[in-house]
Amino acid sequence: MVGAGIVGLATAYHLALEDRGSSILVVDKADGPGGGDTSKSAAAFRTAFTSKVNIMLSKTSISFYESVEKKERFDLGMKKVGYLLALGRKWYNSILDGIRVAEKMGVRLTEVDSDLLDKIHMERDVSNTEEGSLMGAEDIYKSYLFLDAGILDPEKLVDYYYNKLRGLGVSFSFGDGIKDFVLEAKEPLGIEGEPFPWEDIKVKGVLLSNGQTVRARKKVIAAMGAWSNLYLNKIGVDSYSRPKKRQIFSIKADGKDLKDLLFVNGFNEEKVMPFTILPKGVYIRPNPSEGTFWTGLSDELNRPIEVEEEPLPEENYYIYGILPVLSLYFKQYKGVYPYSSWAGHYDISFDGQPVIYEPFSSNLVVSAGTSGSGIMKGDAIGRITAAISMDKEVAVLYDGVEFKTHWLGLDKRVIDKELLIF
Ligand SMILES: Cc1cc2nc3c(=O)[nH]c(=O)nc-3n(C[C@H](O)[C@H](O)[C@H](O)COP(=O)(O)OP(=O)(O)OC[C@H]3O[C@@H](n4cnc5c(N)ncnc54)[C@H](O)[C@@H]3O)c2cc1C
Repeated sequence: MVGAGIVGLATAYHLALEDRGSSILVVDKADGPGGGDTSKSAAAFRTAFTSKVNIMLSKTSISFYESVEKKERFDLGMKKVGYLLALGRKWYNSILDGIRVAEKMGVRLTEVDSDLLDKIHMERDVSNTEEGSLMGAEDIYKSYLFLDAGILDPEKLVDYYYNKLRGLGVSFSFGDGIKDFVLEAKEPLGIEGEPFPWEDIKVKGVLLSNGQTVRARKKVIAAMGAWSNLYLNKIGVDSYSRPKKRQIFSIKADGKDLKDLLFVNGFNEEKVMPFTILPKGVYIRPNPSEGTFWTGLSDELNRPIEVEEEPLPEENYYIYGILPVLSLYFKQYKGVYPYSSWAGHYDISFDGQPVIYEPFSSNLVVSAGTSGSGIMKGDAIGRITAAISMDKEVAVLYDGVEFKTHWLGLDKRVIDKELLIF
């Protein structure tokens, strides 16, 4: 297994449970588990989707995480704070069909009344203010709260899988990344120049940056997230996903106004501000355990497709990109600057769903393309990747939900349209 992010860890866990006789080695270039994008995550979750695949992946993963907390008494820091969508009229019109379909499918949501929005001092009439008209910002037309949604602690999730894997005897190698995949003929003839194109070529292992070759008896699994194509492309394989930088800025809830905003009664049992998405895509993720808010914005056009070894947050992105929107709708943030920030990547596939497949019957299983929702779908992605690695046609997700493994592959991919995109 290459990669000890949520995908690699969840996959190794379900492989270790299912394929008892197998021996598993997880290799990661970072110093420990979750050192890539998993630990950079906002780790918000929701089951509020309209596509069958999205619902299956997120619902079963979240139910599994809930069972970890309830049955195994392992704290994942889950808090059902809900998702609050503050919609301008244009966005409302474009998402209305999705809201209607979701309601019919049993997604629990409620329209938030103005008293509650007044309580958090959300500015709704902004389009005629000086800043608002300059930015072309929309007034808030309607607000919805999605109830089956919240946040968890990605580091605790990593700890959960990592502890389980160690208990199951899975080995780890940290600190040396792979340099290359090792390709050989399935049955080498011992002739110089092998493997020849007419031979049955397989991925037999990996070459580490320290010069050591690690050979796999069964399969090699590439769960390298945003870094996948750096190594896959060299051997003619694609993850069909592309990396983009994503940043988070953490703001302390200092002073009464910000504290009142963070710890507000009326939205959820946690008495915490919901995960809130404002017009123009700026989001606020409450982090009540540390008394902070995390804020971010997923920019698309003008954000290069590239992977960085150590992506850095950009101060100006907060000052000129996020803060103007944030402080337009919530005056409490005016002149407030982050006390810490970090950056990672989304590993974005062509249709927003993970790509999990074994190219060219090569013994290499690729699991990538989590597209910004790898935490909320992590356990299911792990089960599906493990099933493909065991050549199974059906993966059994949490609660016994059956998932055809080819649905996230390339040849017979089955992706239905998602109407609730935010
Ligand atoms: C700012 C931000 C906010 C996010 N918010 C959310 C959210 O709210 N909800 C949600 O569900 N998801 C969210 N995500 C997405 C989520 O974090 C990812 O989908 C998920 O962590 C991807 O997991 P992964 O295992 O595929 O990748 P990673 O965690 O990046 O794991 C890949 C691993 O491969 C290793 N690796 C790379 N190259 C090599 C090599 N050469 N040799 C060995 N190892 C190597 C890396 O060190 C890394 O540990 C967010 C992501 C970011 C960056």
